[in-house]
Amino acid sequence: MNAENFAAGERRVSPAYVRQGSEARRAHEHLIRLLLEQGKCPEDGWDESTVELFLHELAIMDSNNFLGNCGVGEREGRVASALVARRHYRFIHGIGRSGDISAVQPKAAGSSLLNKITNSLVLDIIKLAGVHSVANCFVVPMATGMSLTLCFLTLRHKRPKAKYIIWPRIDQKSCFKSMITAGFEPVVIENILEGDELRTDLKAVEAKVQELGPEHILCVHSTTSCFAPRVPDRLEELAVICANYDIPHVVNNAYGVQSSKCMHLIQQGSRVGRIDAFVQSVDKNFMVPVGGAIIAGFNDAFIQEISKMYPGRASASPSLDVLITLLSLGSNGYKTLLKERKEMFSYLSTQLKKLAEAYNERLLQTPHNPISLAMTLKTLDEHHDKAVTQLGSMLFTRQVSGARAVPLGSVQTMSGHTFQGFMSHVDNYPCAYLNAAAAIGMKSQDVDLFIKRLGKCLNALRKGQSKVSGVSGIDSCDKAEDIDEMALKLDSVLCDMDQHTSS
Ligand SMILES: *Cc1c(COP(=O)(O)O)cnc(C)c1O
Repeated sequence: MNAENFAAGERRVSPAYVRQGSEARRAHEHLIRLLLEQGKCPEDGWDESTVELFLHELAIMDSNNFLGNCGVGEREGRVASALVARRHYRFIHGIGRSGDISAVQPKAAGSSLLNKITNSLVLDIIKLAGVHSVANCFVVPMATGMSLTLCFLTLRHKRPKAKYIIWPRIDQKSCFKSMITAGFEPVVIENILEGDELRTDLKAVEAKVQELGPEHILCVHSTTSCFAPRVPDRLEELAVICANYDIPHVVNNAYGVQSSKCMHLIQQGSRVGRIDAFVQSVDKNFMVPVGGAIIAGFNDAFIQEISKMYPGRASASPSLDVLITLLSLGSNGYKTLLKERKEMFSYLSTQLKKLAEAYNERLLQTPHNPISLAMTLKTLDEHHDKAVTQLGSMLFTRQVSGARAVPLGSVQTMSGHTFQGFMSHVDNYPCAYLNAAAAIGMKSQDVDLFIKRLGKCLNALRKGQSKVSGVSGIDSCDKAEDIDEMALKLDSVLCDMDQHTSS
């Protein structure tokens, strides 16, 4: 309601009351004005009513919601289902224009504003999370792998002779496919084992650069967030190599925004060397549905170039979800989530260490990995060939998701490249292990339930093994008693599970 409407209302309801109502509305509008003026994430999260007021105001600026609109084009924002319209807050036109995902769409001033504001808030959050000197970023409605592809395709025009992408190995199919899909040949750099950790082989990277010739290399494609025992790449050193040889550097920061360590690596890399773009998933970092990523970088012009590579218009959904989330959380809410995640990581690491030791296993020492942990499955592997994969499926049927049992010696071929020891980021890791991660939004109940169910599964497996190999399944009970009474009780649930796993 505007001033005229309030005045009209005063003829029907006492002016004093209307004035109070209009003051109340002004408080919401004040927040919206600050947002539009500053383009920063509000410190305190907004009330749902402010968020919805803002979204409705934006949506009625789009032509599909004009009362007198008469569309005679092929794309007029018509939607058959009212449910679908509501699901999108009546933003139907998407974002971007045919040649640029960041361009303003004349038919949709509201959606365009939504897009600009979202990108501005996300930039603010990336700074807050540790990459202070980021210059520009945008939300793209494709997940991380495809967004990396878009970065590679943009670089292609700048480096017509380039065929190769130098890639310190990370066993995640989408990373590999992002390069194949863009039409480049990944040059896999094997990781080095240092203690328990798998780390970047810098000498091998530099040797490859010299062997292939810098002009034949599209870029170095490095990774921060990854499953332990791999740890984030040596980003600073890689960035220096890239600067020295004038090779672009694209960083896969898939779930790294939630970790100050990953963000710090990116900040430092760009300070001492060269990072052209870093890419992160919106679902993994901002707790929204899968479907979007953020492409960010230190050179405004290059990031704009990437956004101009996107052909056609794009879905506004990932941007809308991120906008609603950041407005609802506020920067303080997001900071709290980051802090809680860190605490959850220490908690998970303590609990997993205790459990591992009770089963004559150990937590792998991977201090450079701030999110993912791994515990050995040596005893399991030694006594029974398929026990490790079996543990994986047992956890899955026990509704533990995201834990990853990594056996030795699995082989995977992708687009003609064969990876030995696939999943473990190296040909021959010394032992089988289990991964678990403390990602944003995890609660202590998740840790507790996981530890409890994992204990039960390990017990069940040992009981099964003792039948086969004569190893006592209960010999570690004494040590473990103090951890989690439930995990170690061979109760009726275990018997059910035994039946389940032996079938
Ligand atoms: C999740 C993830 C990807 C792929 O992400 P999509 O969003 O599914 O494309 C790539 N690399 C790493 C390290 C990841 O964690």
